[in-house]
Amino acid sequence: MRPCAEVWAPAELGLYLHIPFCLRKCPYCSFFSVPASRELIRRYGLALRRQIAGTTAGRPVTTVFFGGGTPSILPAEELATLLAACRAQLPWAEEAEVSMEANPATIDAKGLGVLRRAGFNRLSVGVQSLDDAELQVLGRPHNAAEARAVVRAARSVGFHNLNLDLMYGLPGQTAEGWRQTLRAALDMDPEHLALYELTIEERTPFARLSEEGRLALPPEEEVLAMMAITAEETAGAGFVRYEISNYARPGRQCRHNLNYWHNGDYFGLGAGAVACLAGRRCAAVRDIEQYCLLIESGQEPWAEAEELDPEASLRETVVMGLRLTAGISLTELEARFNLNVLQYYGSTLRRLAEQGLLVQANGNLRLTARGLNLANQVMAELV
Ligand code: SF4
Repeated sequence: MRPCAEVWAPAELGLYLHIPFCLRKCPYCSFFSVPASRELIRRYGLALRRQIAGTTAGRPVTTVFFGGGTPSILPAEELATLLAACRAQLPWAEEAEVSMEANPATIDAKGLGVLRRAGFNRLSVGVQSLDDAELQVLGRPHNAAEARAVVRAARSVGFHNLNLDLMYGLPGQTAEGWRQTLRAALDMDPEHLALYELTIEERTPFARLSEEGRLALPPEEEVLAMMAITAEETAGAGFVRYEISNYARPGRQCRHNLNYWHNGDYFGLGAGAVACLAGRRCAAVRDIEQYCLLIESGQEPWAEAEELDPEASLRETVVMGLRLTAGISLTELEARFNLNVLQYYGSTLRRLAEQGLLVQANGNLRLTARGLNLANQVMAELV
């Protein structure tokens, strides 16, 4: 088995910058982010610039994502400088999608104006809920009015591509409560919605509360009702579900994330960031001090590096691609990996199809509606 580069060429080249700082830690969150001093944030920014200066690309970057953590915790001018450093260092596609995550508690119209002028053209706002009581339970440092204000401000400075992150299945939440939040979010007229069910991650305060029986999560039927409401309200508003948790107006899918789901190439800069280029995956140290020390002393920040053999790449591409509602193109997979996926997985695929979880149609393999609800179970069989 060998990759067949002559007939398959990756469309996108992503660039991810990780900003691992937050105002304070939300009790459900297991992402790599910490509250930090101004001095550490300043030092980290310098280290990032140094890492950018040592990065090279053989083809243009087409998508950029400043994520975290809370990128908007950095002064807007510093974010603009980081973006300018990337543009000066790397070849850049004219129509690059340039996204940034923002927490409503950390950004205002003036800062958003700086970001828009710097070249950011897509903003992803961590709204999470539009119910103040729920936001409090989630330990978010903002309220619903502040989230609305940030969306208005983003529009006023020229952001025409907005994503709102929302969560359902929250402690004490009802299906009707979720409908109200979703409708309120749709009233803000975003181009994109990322709608996640709250999951209880190990070693978080929510995990501890859950173990102690002190977290009143909605029962399964209520969560299923929330999923049905999600389908109904998003479709009614003209959104298309294109990934398990992601919904977009036509043509407004997040290109940066699509590149991950297509298992494309991307740079990852910053502490804890992962890069995957030409079959080699590297993960940076998940320690900010150590990351800064490594970069300051002219060393690579990687904690792990692995060459992905073609079979491992194929399986990853299948598992990632099945997250997309359109599924994966069998012709494209065959061209990319020089093998027939149906034969490769054989009886496993036949069984999943018989169970009504997977279907093959129009040259694509995709999850059924039932399969999307049980995606983790299906992926576990194919990974
Ligand atoms: S703001 Fe986001 S990244 Fe930061 S702690 Fe909260 S959920 Fe995690």
